[in-house]
Amino acid sequence: MAAGLGAVAARQQICAAFDAIDAAHELLRETSSDLVGNDFRIEVADRLETQNRVNRGLMYRIFGELADPPDGQGSITSARAALWKRLRITPREITRRFKLAARIRARRSLTGADIAPELPALAEAVESGAVGEDHIRAICEAVDVLPAAVAPEEVAKAEQRLVEHATGVDAGVVVKLGQRIADHLNPDGRFSDKDRQRRRGLTLGRQGPDGMSKLSGLLDPEARAHFEAVAAAVRPGHRVPNGPDTPVRDERSCAQRNHDAFKLAMSTALSSGKLGTHRGHPVTVIVTTTLAELNQAAHAAIDQSIPMPPPALTGGGSRLPMRDLIRLAANAIHYLAVFDDHTKRPLYLGRQKRIATAGQRLICYARDRGCTRPNCLVPGYHCEVHHANPWARGGRTNADELFFACGPDHTDASDGRQQTAVTKSGRLGWTDGTTPPQINHAHHPEELLHGDPDPPQTDVA
Ligand SMILES: [Zn+2]
Repeated sequence: MAAGLGAVAARQQICAAFDAIDAAHELLRETSSDLVGNDFRIEVADRLETQNRVNRGLMYRIFGELADPPDGQGSITSARAALWKRLRITPREITRRFKLAARIRARRSLTGADIAPELPALAEAVESGAVGEDHIRAICEAVDVLPAAVAPEEVAKAEQRLVEHATGVDAGVVVKLGQRIADHLNPDGRFSDKDRQRRRGLTLGRQGPDGMSKLSGLLDPEARAHFEAVAAAVRPGHRVPNGPDTPVRDERSCAQRNHDAFKLAMSTALSSGKLGTHRGHPVTVIVTTTLAELNQAAHAAIDQSIPMPPPALTGGGSRLPMRDLIRLAANAIHYLAVFDDHTKRPLYLGRQKRIATAGQRLICYARDRGCTRPNCLVPGYHCEVHHANPWARGGRTNADELFFACGPDHTDASDGRQQTAVTKSGRLGWTDGTTPPQINHAHHPEELLHGDPDPPQTDVA
């Protein structure tokens, strides 16, 4: 055990263990399994699965320690940044691991004594590699669905029984057992407002290649009541979206009418003007496009031999087909920014009178589309405006010197952990001082495919 070792000896022992594992993996990869027979292959699959579970157990231990180091050093922000960079896992996955680690790890109280983990039985099973990720998810979900009225001892007992089962059966069975335990502990299905508040949520999935997005989640009773009321306005025969192919009868399915009701509620809320302002604009849809594409779309709409241009981009980072954009713009409640193809300067800004501060933000939407720090995926709606401080010049608040940056990256730039400079092509380059400034291609897929318009080295303005 490494428990009694000093820092140096512990590091050496851990590295030696990893070297041994790497060497063993190398040997496994090199050894042919062509002639071992299927019984033995099952054996091998079992050992691989077990090792994977042991690996996960160690991973959660390390995440737990990173969040609350027993040796008391380090910041969670820099740990997150380092994990993202080195493990190449998403920020969401990093958060998930930290959250789970926090639930299955003993914590230290102010007096220094250990407080038992929230889920002690699961903690032990994860640590020993007895259960896999799918078991962990099933057990957490089963425990989380129990209402607040269930006594803590009962919850602990439920957790323990589920973990016992998880060491013997697959996660699908654990899910079913969890449902039976929940029915048993809460036979009348009694849930408090607190239970409902805890569980409410909507998740908007990523936009698919066809432009569609999956929405899933749980509505609280009030949200459902609102939804039902709106849905009634879209009952069969009412508010049928009209287009060239609209049938005489309303042939929409119930799910399609629900979708139209949702869309109606959203657009009505936006046009009510009662949603306040968001970073200087009235809360509304922001779409950016170029003059050439808008022109082409207008012609394509009446002449089928002209192809529709690629979709426009919204401030949320999603794609909006040009046909939909033209329909939206007709309602005149939306912000549409049209840009000159070459200078990228705005030609037309929705209902704006003149290009003022809000216009400068629109320029950021069109040019940057999202956070300008390399590889950051935060879309424009969630960005702050960063004043690139051209050290050669006076730092005037010109459109050319305002760029999008997400909150954390804006802070990094303001605190000097990152330096920014305007490049020749008018984009914002970032550097930590060790490399030439780099621009972000993440919101510009065409550049990811066709190369950097602004190769480093030559480009500091
Ligand atoms: Zn960012």
